[in-house]
Amino acid sequence: MSIVEMAEEESDQRGGARVNAVYLKLGALSGVVRAALLSSYELACEGTGLEGSRLVIEEVPVVVNCPNCLAPRTLDSVQWFVCPECKTPVSDVIQGRELQVVALEIQE
Ligand SMILES: [Zn+2]
Repeated sequence: MSIVEMAEEESDQRGGARVNAVYLKLGALSGVVRAALLSSYELACEGTGLEGSRLVIEEVPVVVNCPNCLAPRTLDSVQWFVCPECKTPVSDVIQGRELQVVALEIQE
């Protein structure tokens, strides 16, 4: 699993430090389901330097640039790509596709 690989790489760069927790940003458009991610994480960590670590997921909503409001807007639903203020169809996604390791909690 790529998240485990990303986190292992990070920990290697810090001299193979033991990792307590992995902090992940998960965009609503990433196509990854949080529950599925959590349940597969433990398995994916087995036998790696991340065994026993926690996965902490920060869910990132979809933010689009509204061509009518000329402002960033947070979508209420990923099913409806319309501005929540003016109902203009939007397609310019600024945020929400993330699947990214943002931080590691290292054991001292
Ligand atoms: Zn708008």
